[in-house]
Amino acid sequence: MFDVIIVGAGTAGLSAGIYTARSGKSALILESKAYGGQIINTPEIENYPGIKNISGFEFATGLYEQAVGLGAEVRYEKVISIEDEGEIKVVNTAENSYECRAVIIATGAKNRQLGIPREEDLIGSGISYCATCDGAFYRNKAVAVAGGGNTAIEDALFLSNYCSKVYVVHRRDAFRADLKDVEQLKSRENVEFVLNANVVAVLGEDKVEGIEVKDKNSGELRQIPVAGLFIAVGQEPDNQAFSNLVALDSTGYVVAKEDCLTNVKGIYTAGDCRTKSVRQLTTAAADGAVAALAACERIM
Ligand code: NAP
Repeated sequence: MFDVIIVGAGTAGLSAGIYTARSGKSALILESKAYGGQIINTPEIENYPGIKNISGFEFATGLYEQAVGLGAEVRYEKVISIEDEGEIKVVNTAENSYECRAVIIATGAKNRQLGIPREEDLIGSGISYCATCDGAFYRNKAVAVAGGGNTAIEDALFLSNYCSKVYVVHRRDAFRADLKDVEQLKSRENVEFVLNANVVAVLGEDKVEGIEVKDKNSGELRQIPVAGLFIAVGQEPDNQAFSNLVALDSTGYVVAKEDCLTNVKGIYTAGDCRTKSVRQLTTAAADGAVAALAACERIM
């Protein structure tokens, strides 16, 4: 029996682990992949208050070590369902069933696909969702990045350090990304913006040899030779396993406000997996603290 089980070892989940452990409660963090969540693949973080500059890997590792050092336990098992038995909650993984008194769902979000033909087939053969992980394979080659948010612009900046040419393909001519980064990218000589355009096809049989983009206004098609396509068109939640238990909104996010309470007593949610307007590292960490303190207060 654990006091609190946290589903997900990203920024929100690990922060919840820190706050639960520091409240003197036992915390089990269940993670299906690796600790760190999305931020572990971010090359550089410079908007976390108090830390001027840090890599995503270093940040996530620090968070993990802090949570474990304070007594939170991390196990690598995928949660497949949660049962609400009133004061007791049962968290089922493929391997085990765990009992606890409160659950925090902190499942984050997964990469959204672009939805072009052969996208899945070519993952690892030119298509990637992680510039930090795969960028080194494209040293001195031309690549394209699809998207206009912070991830796409940061990925393009990172890739422009190594690649001969980086095409940024975005469906609008305005960016969600921070202006400072967009301006920095615009100043790079080996970067070309392909705006108001969508990637509609990948060229090449067994590996990416180019992309075809369609101009949204003219309908004109353009073929661009690239060895890699980095897709950074946002995230979507991964909460289907809990849809019979907690309320999800129409796009699959767990419904909760800033208090991180779900519609089920004793079940909380934190971070990018919940309904919210700002999904940032800071808000994920804040959610972890809020959810954990609420869970610990309920237990007491
Ligand atoms: P995002 O902000 O949701 O941006 C997704 C981008 O992809 C948007 O430009 C969007 O275009 C485009 N897009 C979405 N679906 C598309 C489709 N089907 N076809 C073509 N383009 C599509 O996602 P993100 O960049 O991954 O960032 C997610 C969150 O993490 C954001 O809150 C972001 O600020 C945060 N983040 C922060 C940092 C940091 O602080 N260092 C780093 C990375 C991410 P439209 O603009 O036209 O909708």
